[in-house]
Amino acid sequence: MGEGEPDFSSGLLPAVVQDADTGQVLMLAWMDGESWRKTVETGQAWFHSRTRGLWEKGATSGNRMDVVERRLDCDLDAILLRVHPHGPACHTGAISCFFNEA
Ligand SMILES: [Zn+2]
Repeated sequence: MGEGEPDFSSGLLPAVVQDADTGQVLMLAWMDGESWRKTVETGQAWFHSRTRGLWEKGATSGNRMDVVERRLDCDLDAILLRVHPHGPACHTGAISCFFNEA
C-alpha cells in the first residue's frame, strides 16, 4: 500500500467508477490533471471528454457521485473511484453502463 499521484505524462487516464457499497462497476471515463484536481477538491466525480472537455458527472442529470475513495493502480496510470452514486450512472437510466452482454 502506498500513496501516489496519477501519471498524466502520456495523456488521459482511464477511470473506473465502482459503487463503494456493492462493488458494482458503474462506468468508465477518462481523466486529465484538471479533472483529477477537481475531483480531489470537490469530492465529486469530474472527467475529461475529448469532445466536451471538463465535465462533472451529474451536472446535467443531477445524478452526481460522491467520491468516497480514490485508488491508483500499480503503475499509477489507471484510476479507480469508489463512489456513492445519487442515481443511475448511465445516461440511458441504467444503474451501470455495463449492461450489454458480449
Ligand atoms: Zn452509460
